[in-house]
Amino acid sequence: MMMQIREAREALKLYFGYDNFRPMQEQIISRVLNREDVVVLMPTGGGKSVCYQVPAVVMPGITIVISPLIALMKDQVEALLENGIKAAFLNSSLSAEAQYQVENACLAGELKLLYVSPEKLLSSGFLNFLKRIQVSLFAVDEAHCISAWGHDFRPEYTQLRILKQQFPQTPMVALTATADKLTQKDIQDQLSLRDPQVFVASFDRPNINLMVKPGRDRLNKITEFLERHHGQPGIIYCLSRKGTEAIADKLKKNGFKATCYHAGMNAQQRAKAQEDFLKDDVQIVCATVAFGMGIDKSNVRWVIHYNLPKNIEGYYQEIGRAGRDGAASDALLFYSYADVMSMRSMLTEGSEKQLELQLVKLDRMQQYAEATICRRRILLQYFGETMHKDCGNCDICRNPPTSFDGTLLVQKALSAIARTQEQVNMGLLIDVLRGSRNAQVLEGGYDRIKTYGAGREISTMDWQRYLHQMLNAGLVELAYDQKYALKLTEQSRQVLFEGRKVQLVKFDEVKQPTEEVRKARPKKEVVQDALFERLRTLRKKMADEYGVPPYVIFTDSTLQEMSAEKPTNRIAMLAISGVGSLKYERYGYDFVNEIISFMTEEQDKGNKLKGATHLVTYEAYKAGNNPEQIARQRNLNPVTIYSHLATLYEQGYEVDLNRFITKKEFTEIRKAIASLGPDAKLKDLYEALGEQYEYHKIRLAISLFKTEV
Ligand code: ADP
Ligand code: ZN
Repeated sequence: MMMQIREAREALKLYFGYDNFRPMQEQIISRVLNREDVVVLMPTGGGKSVCYQVPAVVMPGITIVISPLIALMKDQVEALLENGIKAAFLNSSLSAEAQYQVENACLAGELKLLYVSPEKLLSSGFLNFLKRIQVSLFAVDEAHCISAWGHDFRPEYTQLRILKQQFPQTPMVALTATADKLTQKDIQDQLSLRDPQVFVASFDRPNINLMVKPGRDRLNKITEFLERHHGQPGIIYCLSRKGTEAIADKLKKNGFKATCYHAGMNAQQRAKAQEDFLKDDVQIVCATVAFGMGIDKSNVRWVIHYNLPKNIEGYYQEIGRAGRDGAASDALLFYSYADVMSMRSMLTEGSEKQLELQLVKLDRMQQYAEATICRRRILLQYFGETMHKDCGNCDICRNPPTSFDGTLLVQKALSAIARTQEQVNMGLLIDVLRGSRNAQVLEGGYDRIKTYGAGREISTMDWQRYLHQMLNAGLVELAYDQKYALKLTEQSRQVLFEGRKVQLVKFDEVKQPTEEVRKARPKKEVVQDALFERLRTLRKKMADEYGVPPYVIFTDSTLQEMSAEKPTNRIAMLAISGVGSLKYERYGYDFVNEIISFMTEEQDKGNKLKGATHLVTYEAYKAGNNPEQIARQRNLNPVTIYSHLATLYEQGYEVDLNRFITKKEFTEIRKAIASLGPDAKLKDLYEALGEQYEYHKIRLAISLFKTEV
């Protein structure tokens, strides 16, 4: 088994280009290789696929993956093929002829993975077909579909128990991103798993930056946000179909590449929207929650919620579509009290009990939006996971609110509520407190009460925040059945009449870096961004050439690492996380070339980049110049150029040092290097050799010496 896990690690590097397993992947894979059953609960983007794809590669035979998402199969198979793993799928979308070919490939033992829909798996004769081939493993993806409790119940899934009956010896791995206990137990029972170990990974997605902003002026805020996320793909979730269309139109008018996606569009329109997004042909999809189930795009860089989601489950699933590649991503939620109100009035379906549950869930969502502590803590706590420190990657952590004695302010609000006979809603109360002269205020005669205008100095926005805090603290109540009028409570009386003190939380506006600060960013970073952009452009070009989505070629995090490390040869490129052997064969050379030309251009512009001077020499060398000529062109000492060539040679570049030093010379110099060591000073070697050999020959000999071992 030890050996197998080593093979698994080698396969991870060779096919996927990753050096290390993520937490749990290794344990899961060891179990599978040991032919045990396992259940894997991991968030979207957690790395579930590797848990069966790596075993599929190292085990003899073929792994059967059962997946309900037909639309995804093609993408998954494509991604495997890109990595050099032989895979295919069978579902109703294929012609009989194509299915026949896939089956033949299975019989011939040519495939390592076969994706099938549950319908296909259960269709007549298919299990007998499986008996004729060597099945190494069954992987049941989206395993929560088996549970009638869940939201994605698929009746066909309940028939999957037949697999264990018919193939008792074949290990099975069940995978899902749904974590609740009930579902988990259902999966084990219904698949008849044998004493399975259950792996529950953390549901944290630390690379997603969590932010909540007040809902006023959202469209402008979105445009600002998009300007800071130039060209990065993302999703805007809206409540209504109309909303998606309106926002997409507005963004298009502002010059962004946006489209919409909702259930009112026909299948063809939706497929087109999805395809354009996958291929990075549109940057932004404005969608209702229907969007995202069937997409696997790993480079979604941000998710915006234009409206407050109904509950935390949905919210978490939706933001989880960002940053599956592990690179930094943003989740921005717009929140306004008005949204909560309209949401409440929309919740009318179902029994009283269901309704109550929905309201409770909405309350939790609202509390999250109004949080004054680390947002990630709240989210994970909701899913039963306790974090022991603040995350540092949410707006609250970045900009912690301070509290102050808000007693006077609360008293003003409560007094205004009392003097308006507990008849006004929040908006009107704020108007009264701020001394507004609008029609509603005047009609009610509220301009004549004592507290009229008593809170003028506080902005509407801030009043809203303070009133929300008062609501959360039980200092006032909302009468849902009386047009959301604000009502006093027992606690309000304590504040008004019994001298109870109240602490309120103050929010400072999150400081955006000003234009000057942004401009003054270190040059290096800007240059690096420029390289990232170039690599991204190259990726898009190649993706179109090969007819695959760009992220299938390399993920954003892989491109980021490339632009930071600037690998300019094969060995360095293969060391980048996400560059496997086949990917290198196919694309590596073009990316190396792009990096080299970027670096040489920067060098020409006078931007000093580490290693760039060598590359300029290399370019000149490749163009057929000899070291003396290069030295003259570059106004450098020839010894420096030889030294560049020697270093390049050591790094694996194609440089023929033997052109500049004869065998005989090398044999002589080699003796001195062997006795003084390859790290000896050139000067010492020069002297040890009786001052007979030029410095540059010694330098070349050192490289030849170093690489011969
Ligand atoms: P899931 O199926 O759980 O949603 P995926 O299997 O699609 O997640 O993995 C999400 C991303 O993480 C993919 O881009 C994948 O290549 C990457 N990934 C998976 N395992 C590793 C690993 N060990 N090291 C680095 N990246 C990984
Ligand atoms: Zn935090």
